[in-house]
Amino acid sequence: MNIYITLDYEIYFGENHGTVEKCIIYPTSELIRIANKHQVFFSFFVDCGFLLKLDEYRKKYPQLEGDYKKITEQVKLLSDSGHDIQLHIHPHWEDSYYNGEKWIIDIKRYKLIDFSETEIADIVYRYKKVLTEITGKTIFAFRAGGWCLQPFSKLKKAFIENQINLDSSVFKNGSFSSEHYSYDFRTAPDKDIYHFDDEPTIENPDGYFTEVPISGIRNSPLFFWRLFFLGRKNPKLHKPLGDGRAMPAPGYRKNLLTKFTNNPASLDGYNVHLLGRVLSKLLKKKREHMVVIGHPKALSPYSIKKLEQFIENNKEHHNFTTYSKQFLKH
Ligand SMILES: [Zn+2]
Repeated sequence: MNIYITLDYEIYFGENHGTVEKCIIYPTSELIRIANKHQVFFSFFVDCGFLLKLDEYRKKYPQLEGDYKKITEQVKLLSDSGHDIQLHIHPHWEDSYYNGEKWIIDIKRYKLIDFSETEIADIVYRYKKVLTEITGKTIFAFRAGGWCLQPFSKLKKAFIENQINLDSSVFKNGSFSSEHYSYDFRTAPDKDIYHFDDEPTIENPDGYFTEVPISGIRNSPLFFWRLFFLGRKNPKLHKPLGDGRAMPAPGYRKNLLTKFTNNPASLDGYNVHLLGRVLSKLLKKKREHMVVIGHPKALSPYSIKKLEQFIENNKEHHNFTTYSKQFLKH
């Protein structure tokens, strides 16, 4: 099995966005420690909109200089050490600003499709460029902020123009919609890799784009009750390392606690405990690619420990790899 440990590298987007140190730098340094020890590589989808805003505002507010430096240095270090750096777009940064004390985050236009095609082309171009400049490597893979990339037909042109030809945002049977979010992957093929053209849930063998979906998992409400209970009982072990709070997604939590839900296989907090189960299921189905999503900000001491165990138990038999290592022709 090719196992992709992937991380969306970002702060929080609600009113309490947290600090760069605790949401990104420290948890990522823990991942680097594990990767070095076990000689494995991870993929990081870097929130480039934030990076560009930091660069813009650090001139006026020197207190942002430290955050900018820490992020660019860590991204460069990751890339130089063989980890994959790829594109993550949260376009709401276009409408957000720093007021001298904190980021004022405006999520009215949360999805890339909330922008015009001209704006989309400009965003994809600039966001990719900043990563190319830092890493000096080929940026060709994408994960949508909040999984929102539909209707993809509106993004397609900008992606082709910027040679972004691999997406890893879809997860089987996922769907959610609220004022700001919207994704529906319920019709996606039950495959671990396929091609598409206009819509990432519709396979087209001749399509320009490759989809390497995030592996899916079906959770019972009981799982999330246990998760919230453990968080209360032993916050030291289960509290996320990030010091912000997720932006509200009305109805999302209630769904998790009352129904069976389809979720992406995840490293975040207690979710990591299911990785072994996801792997055996995929092996039974004779799959070749297992993609796991995580967020440095949402990792806990528990999830870091469990991730390390998962790697230790499986590194001899499976291939912990990255998008570049698998898909980029050298
Ligand atoms: Zn994100």
